Amino acid sequence: MRDGMSILKTFFNETEAQIAFNHLTALGVTATIQMDNCGGMRPHFDLSRGVDILVADEDLEKAKDALAVPVTDLTAEPWTCPSCGEAIAAEFDICWKCGKEK
Ligand SMILES: [Zn+2]
Repeated sequence: MRDGMSILKTFFNETEAQIAFNHLTALGVTATIQMDNCGGMRPHFDLSRGVDILVADEDLEKAKDALAVPVTDLTAEPWTCPSCGEAIAAEFDICWKCGKEK
């Protein structure tokens, strides 16, 4: 671990960690992803201990606040209504055009 940085959170896979990392850095948090202590390739990485995100100690509280939002919300993408084909923003669960549920 680097000096002056703490593990903010451990993710199950690199994708989740990367999303959170992007979110943090966009907010100005100094962060780094720590995937592998040995530096080698691990094909079964997803089944191993996970991916740590480290943040600078001075950014720790800010980073915790940032991740108070579930990662699933950060990954939400627009969806297409199966009934009328309207493109619906991720935060809506019901089509605003025809009322069909997601
Ligand atoms: Zn619709």
